[in-house]
Amino acid sequence: MSANIQSILTQLGIENINPAYSTGNDWGGANNTENIDSFSPVDGQKIASIKVSSNNDYEQVIAKAQEAFVYWRTVPAPKRGEIVRQFGDALRKNKEALGTLVSYEMGKSLQEGYGEVQEMIDICDFAVGLSRQLYGLTMHSERPNHRMYEQWHPLGIVGIISAFNFPVAVWSWNAALAWVCGNVCIWKPSEKTPLTGIACQKIIAAVFKANDIPEGVSSLIIGDRIIGELMTNDGRVPLISATGSTRMGKAVAVAVGARLGKSLLELGGNNAIIISEHADLDMSLIGAVFGAVGTAGQRCTSTRRLIIHQSVYDTFVAKLVKAYAQLRIGNPLDQNNHVGPLIDKDAVNAYLDSIEKCKAEGGNFVVDGGVLEGEKYASGCYVKPCIAEVKNDYKIVQHETFAPILYLIKYTNLDEAIALQNGVPQGLSSAIMTLNLREAEQFLSYQGSDCGIANVNIGTSGAEIGGAFGGEKETGGGRESGSDAWRAYMRRQTNTINYANTLPLAQGIKFDL
Ligand code: NAD
Repeated sequence: MSANIQSILTQLGIENINPAYSTGNDWGGANNTENIDSFSPVDGQKIASIKVSSNNDYEQVIAKAQEAFVYWRTVPAPKRGEIVRQFGDALRKNKEALGTLVSYEMGKSLQEGYGEVQEMIDICDFAVGLSRQLYGLTMHSERPNHRMYEQWHPLGIVGIISAFNFPVAVWSWNAALAWVCGNVCIWKPSEKTPLTGIACQKIIAAVFKANDIPEGVSSLIIGDRIIGELMTNDGRVPLISATGSTRMGKAVAVAVGARLGKSLLELGGNNAIIISEHADLDMSLIGAVFGAVGTAGQRCTSTRRLIIHQSVYDTFVAKLVKAYAQLRIGNPLDQNNHVGPLIDKDAVNAYLDSIEKCKAEGGNFVVDGGVLEGEKYASGCYVKPCIAEVKNDYKIVQHETFAPILYLIKYTNLDEAIALQNGVPQGLSSAIMTLNLREAEQFLSYQGSDCGIANVNIGTSGAEIGGAFGGEKETGGGRESGSDAWRAYMRRQTNTINYANTLPLAQGIKFDL
């Protein structure tokens, strides 16, 4: 490991950390025998070996969380917001170190690592404002001298299960909102990126300690699906917010649904940009290339399909091919590179398998893929972004491959393009590039995109925290982050108060004694 990374681990206070779980400043499970090794896809080096939480550890975490909730819900929401504000400040201080660790452990570019921490800071700011705006409605009662209104109460323990590709931001989207709403959180980060989880827990634990907040408002458990399943099956965890593959989401939905719990699901995407004959092609090129190769195609919002009008198809494909030839692939910590590695060798194999399947179904590769070799690429996780001409109904095109494979599909009219765009099982992000108002409005209308996110003259990738984030169909239907996404973390209570001298019943029903 480089001296730089070593000093970052020291700065974050996690260089010798060996715990399996944490309830804040208390860390435990150091004697557990099962480990997860965290390897960097950047250079293949082992960064750390981390203990896995046991069932017993999980019970300890739950007990502390239950106790903490009884206290935390009594803290006024704006005061909870003040603590989240301090968390945002702590993140500002640690932005460089945490962003670098995100980049090294996950493999995204340094800029994107910093960007991810910036998103955490932004959601803290948002949550601080929100802490004074957890509004309920007041309604007019049909009965005289009655007052009717609704209020929002916290749920209790929120279980957060996150994916490797946004190893820290997704947790903060959930946690910052859940905390101001009065909940306590238990986080299970991806088993592929446990170290960034530990770093975040260290940062928030210090903030809670400085404010004399008891253990258990923010807890961390380490492990894979098995420990995740303890939470999804646990009636003491009223809300599970799970981010990951559709396969995972279906399993979580069944487990949580079977106990009539609440789940907030943020699952896979299969995002397309429509490039119309009225598009600004230079702008479209930036949106398409960044969307397809940014984070090595490992964003839930990555652009997987380009649906291009036949009249501009050849010109645009020529531009794409030229742009792909200029891509610099290599160490993501070197800011000159555009594309870093995939997360691990399993992801490389899935990428190669998808290329083979695409060819077998008739796909024509206009930019070839392949695994890069040589000293620079010694981790074995660096692949070439590639482009294939396909039909939308190929099985492989209907599937989300988490890698930089871009599919091209030709269209002749907008109705057809929208049908193609919607013609996949997933419904996360979508975009149209056009300077034609009618086309843009049709795309955004009820006859247009069926996705949770629909953009005009912006690609599919990336989102601001102010909007509600999430998607439809197999993307799971959840919404996180901005707008009124906070409601998912609270329970609604309708209250009617009678200040009359009589007890009139609703709907005019008479019940005289
Ligand atoms: P994954 O599904 O393999 O794992 C995600 C998390 O779920 C991990 O923490 C894992 O341990 C846990 N998990 C897996 N099976 C589980 C089960 N049965 N019960 C409980 N927990 C379980 O996903 P990944 O490879 O880490 O991430 C990539 C996927 O995540 C892609 O499909 C991507 O589109 C999706 N993603 C979606 C969003 C979104 O907001 N829609 C954001 C980021 C990533």
